[in-house]
Amino acid sequence: MEDCIFCKIIKGEIPSEKVYEDDEILAFKDINPAAPIHILFIPKKHIESLIHMSKKDEALIGKIYSKINEVVEKLEITQNGFRVIVNCGKDAGQEVMHLHFHLLAGAKLGPKLV
Ligand code: AMP
Ligand code: ZN
Repeated sequence: MEDCIFCKIIKGEIPSEKVYEDDEILAFKDINPAAPIHILFIPKKHIESLIHMSKKDEALIGKIYSKINEVVEKLEITQNGFRVIVNCGKDAGQEVMHLHFHLLAGAKLGPKLV
């Protein structure tokens, strides 16, 4: 996707603070952190949002959750806990139309919606 900022980050055209990378997944620090630890996990494949994933992406999405767990263990935040958020579409306030998983941790997190 030509004008997708996360695709540009994947290609190295926009700098990012990488936390994890393999051939399918990239994790990097959010530029505007909402918590002391705020990392975005994205598939390298451009998928617009959760609703745009297909059956073929099920393993990839599962792998993203596994990687979140690995990073959480590495950062030693399993004890205190963390939150994973996926905003999908207009009402959820999704701003970047490339599927991403927010990992938030490092402090008592703001009000729970659910
Ligand atoms: P969302 O509102 O769920 O679409 O979240 C998009 C997130 O991307 C926000 O938390 C932004 O701070 C973050 N973001 C936007 N541009 C960048 C960037 N260049 N590097 C890192 N994070 C970014
Ligand atoms: Zn993209």
